[in-house]
Amino acid sequence: MIDLLRRWIIPSACLICAGEAAPGTVCAGCRAGLPWNRIACPVCALPLRSADAHVCAHCAADPPHFDTTLAAFRYEAPIAQAIAGLKYHAQFRQSRWLGAELAQLAANRPTPLPDLLIPVPLHPSRLRSRGYNQALELARGITRRLAIEIDWKSAVRVRATADQIGKQARERRREVRKAFAVGPKVAGRHVALIDDVMTTGSTVDDLARAARDAGAARIEVWVAARVP
Ligand SMILES: [Zn+2]
Ligand SMILES: [Zn+2]
Repeated sequence: MIDLLRRWIIPSACLICAGEAAPGTVCAGCRAGLPWNRIACPVCALPLRSADAHVCAHCAADPPHFDTTLAAFRYEAPIAQAIAGLKYHAQFRQSRWLGAELAQLAANRPTPLPDLLIPVPLHPSRLRSRGYNQALELARGITRRLAIEIDWKSAVRVRATADQIGKQARERRREVRKAFAVGPKVAGRHVALIDDVMTTGSTVDDLARAARDAGAARIEVWVAARVP
């Protein structure tokens, strides 16, 4: 409770432990223990054990419609709690921080940055009940550092889907099929689809397929965290 109060009152409190930290960041101690997703499938960012990252069995057998995935963290404590704060309690300092970390990782790669950031849209009914789209908030956090245009209009969710975490893979795939429509602005563009968490990847794969159908040239997926 004291920690919670500190976090609310003191802007320089660490976003995880409420100890001392530069404003809007995590302290050195927390940072050292974060579950960075360093060894992962280059296509879907599935966390892997071996030291040399290779394409995972899922992607080898059934390649997704996106080209590559950048996931800053594994979906584990304390990142899961940070994302829950963003998703369910409108803690936008978490999206600013997570977005900054993603931006840093993206900028450090030798490959070109995308032209557009496309937040995975919520269905209008979900957006109305939540009041904001956490994926858009994350994209805002990224663009504060990288100044890439956020395109929040091209992709629309045409069918509502339930929360993905905790569902069976087959159930998820059936639910998300043809859930999105994407407009012509993405034609010939290099885009990054932005989401808070990637579970199996079936949701972003469905959006990627719609973006591909609309003519997107290169499709990346950027997420704060990947479920192992
Ligand atoms: Zn801390
Ligand atoms: Zn993979």
